[in-house]
Amino acid sequence: MKIALIAHDKKKNDIIQFAQAYKYSLEKHELYATGTTGMKISEHTGLSLHRFQSGPLGGDQQIGSMVAENNMDMIIFFRDPLTAQPHEPDITALLRLCDVYNIPLATNMGTAEVLIHALERGDLKWREIIHDNEGK
Ligand code: PGA
Repeated sequence: MKIALIAHDKKKNDIIQFAQAYKYSLEKHELYATGTTGMKISEHTGLSLHRFQSGPLGGDQQIGSMVAENNMDMIIFFRDPLTAQPHEPDITALLRLCDVYNIPLATNMGTAEVLIHALERGDLKWREIIHDNEGK
């Protein structure tokens, strides 16, 4: 399963804690992240992730392009709802694409917990069926 992790600056500590807590689960999957988020997660957990550009430099769009190819299975995106982001249009576009392709998306810790447990339980197996049907 391909999982993307993204966190705005004030949420970086949260995503590090989340990745530490669920390392045993995340390490079984192919992990992707925006630049700084990926660097911090990897430093603090030892998890290996494919790092895209930093969000403001196009990282959200790079993840969005995977979504557009139906090639991303789950996104954990700890957004900061209290700080204006220079790349707000990119964020909106990524969230929109998740809705277009029915990609499971958590934008806060509460939902991320639910998604990770669903992942562990095999609730996201339907994504594998989609990939099999598309020959991916
Ligand atoms: P970053 O990007 O992981 O490079 O900080 C995240 C974002 O701000 O969208």
